[in-house]
Amino acid sequence: MATEFNAFEMAQRQFDSVADKLQLDEGIRELLRWPQREFHFTVPVRMDDGTVKVFKGYRVQHNDARGPAKGGIRFHPQETVDTVRALATWMTWKCAVVDIPLGGGKGGVICDPHDLSPREQEALCRGWVRQVANNVGPVQDVPAPDVMTNPQHMVWMLDEYEKLVGGHYPGFITGKPVEVGGSLGRTEATGFGVIYTVREAMQRFGVPIEGVRASLQGFGNVSQYAAKLFIELGGTVVAVSCWDNGDHCAYTFRKSDGIDMDFLVSITDRFGTIDKEKAADAGFNVLEADAWLEQEAEILIPAALENQITADNVGRINPSVKAIAEGANGPTTPEADAVLKERGIFVIPDFLANAGGVTCSYFEQVQCNANFFWPKDEVLERLDQKMTTAFHAVADLAEETGEFMRDAAYMIAIQRVATACHLRGWA
Ligand code: NAD
Repeated sequence: MATEFNAFEMAQRQFDSVADKLQLDEGIRELLRWPQREFHFTVPVRMDDGTVKVFKGYRVQHNDARGPAKGGIRFHPQETVDTVRALATWMTWKCAVVDIPLGGGKGGVICDPHDLSPREQEALCRGWVRQVANNVGPVQDVPAPDVMTNPQHMVWMLDEYEKLVGGHYPGFITGKPVEVGGSLGRTEATGFGVIYTVREAMQRFGVPIEGVRASLQGFGNVSQYAAKLFIELGGTVVAVSCWDNGDHCAYTFRKSDGIDMDFLVSITDRFGTIDKEKAADAGFNVLEADAWLEQEAEILIPAALENQITADNVGRINPSVKAIAEGANGPTTPEADAVLKERGIFVIPDFLANAGGVTCSYFEQVQCNANFFWPKDEVLERLDQKMTTAFHAVADLAEETGEFMRDAAYMIAIQRVATACHLRGWA
């Protein structure tokens, strides 16, 4: 019988194997294996029909040795505390690998926002903030959007926080609309960041991007902007996939000669679900969930959820695939990773590839603190610099040591966090 996937166990396994390589002391190892703080709570919401529904909410702060915890809030029906723990842990490594002065945190609510009216979503956002307001904030822990949360959710949360503490604290939360202290470029940041690392990888290998094909899982925020920039740089996106809430399953949409982004976005809802009838009418092949892995492409970009490339389906990856850039957090299990290593597939690991979002969130905080906002070009240029520097530091270490890219990224990140803990006298 297959054991149930546990993202936090996976995050700990990844950490343990690198802690061994780094020969970390027992004390620091134990400290970094676990979140420093966790908040588990309930959020009662008065529904539109007058009944009260109680939602489970979480905030986990994995490590704040390098600065306030930082990480998104996910609304998902299958959310678990272990997923939140894993995501908080990966945030610690992500902020460290791109060298921004923040720690790792994550939050979540077990819910499906598809089933909630805007008023109910607002009540849920405000209720979430009321439960954690004393333990989050610009100098403690800074939330942001994640799967199925968006800038509107952030601004409701900001408003509730500011009501509670009295005053304006735009640095409390990032991913806000630009009209309320958000940063230009934040919407694009994660997807663009993925492609900056892909571009740098291809430069290292001396392969021009023109004519290179990519197949992506997901068609939400990360995937759409990754696809957009990849196409702008001359690449071709041959397939994307998405979750269909009506059918309760995922589909892959193939267009071997390349997708037209504007058209595909025009038939996609705000949750990243593509209208399959309209796609089929426009000549897309509508295929089953995992078909995105099998497409003839040089690059795969998983940009949906964790636990997507597993021992069960890794064998389905097309022999044409040379590189995987992980837009999602935790999309590849350690068992699948071993197969990728064997096949010599170059992996740009999640907490490096998708660090563009948190880097831009950090820029948003800096701009809010200074109350001075940068033009979009400047934001994206600084983002590109950060991502490019981080990518080459990891790729250099991988080359020098012969380590897999994921392990090299972990080595840099863990070392930085361990040093901050040592300097503070924590371990
Ligand atoms: P999103 O909600 O905007 O989009 C998610 C997409 O994945 C949607 O198209 C959805 O239909 C699809 N999807 C969901 N389940 C699927 C499945 N089983 N198979 C195929 N497609 C599926 O979310 P997002 O913000 O794009 O985040 C995607 C991933 O990237 C998550 O792992 C998230 O944690 C990670 N991430 C996001 C950001 C960010 O700034 N948005 C930053 C770093 C990492």
